Amino acid sequence: MSEAVAETVAARFSELYGAEPHGVWAAPGRVNLIGEHTDYNDGFVMPFALPHMAVAAVSRREDGVLRLHSADVEGGVAELRLDDLSPESDKNWTAYPAGVVWALREAGHAVTGADIHLSSTVPSGAGLSSSAALEVVVALALNDLFSLGLRGWQLARLCQRAENVYVGAPVGIMDQTASACCEAGHALFLDTRDLSQKQVPFDLAAEGMRLLVVDTQVKHSHSEGEYGKRRAGCEKGAALLGVNALRDVPYDDLDAALSRLGDEEEVRRLVRHIVTENERVERVVSLLESGDDTRAIGPILVEGHASLRDDFRISCPELDLVVDTALASGAVGARMTGGGFGGSAIVLAEEPDVDAITKAVTEAFATAGFTTPRVFEAVPSAGARSLL
Ligand code: ADP
Ligand code: MG
Repeated sequence: MSEAVAETVAARFSELYGAEPHGVWAAPGRVNLIGEHTDYNDGFVMPFALPHMAVAAVSRREDGVLRLHSADVEGGVAELRLDDLSPESDKNWTAYPAGVVWALREAGHAVTGADIHLSSTVPSGAGLSSSAALEVVVALALNDLFSLGLRGWQLARLCQRAENVYVGAPVGIMDQTASACCEAGHALFLDTRDLSQKQVPFDLAAEGMRLLVVDTQVKHSHSEGEYGKRRAGCEKGAALLGVNALRDVPYDDLDAALSRLGDEEEVRRLVRHIVTENERVERVVSLLESGDDTRAIGPILVEGHASLRDDFRISCPELDLVVDTALASGAVGARMTGGGFGGSAIVLAEEPDVDAITKAVTEAFATAGFTTPRVFEAVPSAGARSLL
């Protein structure tokens, strides 16, 4: 399937630029299985790659020009001069690929120009990281075309810098690392402090299980400000507790830490979420590595949702409705995933229950007067790679 997509993207590249591309690369979107809002607290996350991916046909240039085109956005080819690239100057989609070129050059890598045409099946703005897919596919293509010799985690760091500084979005390191480093049939256990990582077997089909993604199609407008508040609150908690990051608060010391926070009620809730969430990631990793029944992770996902809803307070009625309805219809586990205030939830289910759960969630949304959600199955898929 990816080969047919690669051919299509390459053919469109040839139409646009009048020559065949030097290569075609792919980078996936991701879903986070567990470990939410831990990535800016130096903590643990556990994403896996989606089959949905950004595909880019790319040729190198030597003349300091960057040409960009997306099949998914109205408008023609954007032409930029590498010497003119500057952070936060571009508010369009082109900031993502241009930001990657900027970050590579800033880090001293000799990138001299490129023609890029891309197309993506990662839904945009659904919390599935279409932005990281875009960045990573461009970074991998340039890494190969300019023989930069950078590893997946190094590309991820540069992509994060592109998004933080060039695009101006204060995101953590999870999305780019997931897109760059995930492997099919596995979830990625990532320590966001030092980017050490481990591939953890996560082959649901072999156990008669499925993982559904329910995209609520909701994006609440205040989500960016709320994200900033959570980040600031976590930093305040770390400062009050005298640690570098909340990751340094041991789970066994949680009660003592919480009591030291005195009347800082809001900070106390944020700290409790981060510390318990890191512990949940570790529990999921050891369950999956033990090879025991994967169903055992279900209750941990549900605990995680309650913590995000009640302590971190970033859920919303649509996400809670998915989780409550899915569990009432026999799901093994469910939780919101991603930044919160909309986006997607995940549902872990026995294969025979999938249709009934999907129907129940869709009907519950209709009854509540919510937009019809988009439900699809997420098979843990391969990370970024060369296709042609
Ligand atoms: P998410 O990463 O959760 O999907 P973001 O807001 O971080 O949401 O990134 C979405 C942005 O990424 C879009 O607004 C657009 O600028 C860019 N983008 C995503 N997919 C594409 C695409 N196929 N073509 C062009 N731009 C894209
Ligand atoms: Mg994003």
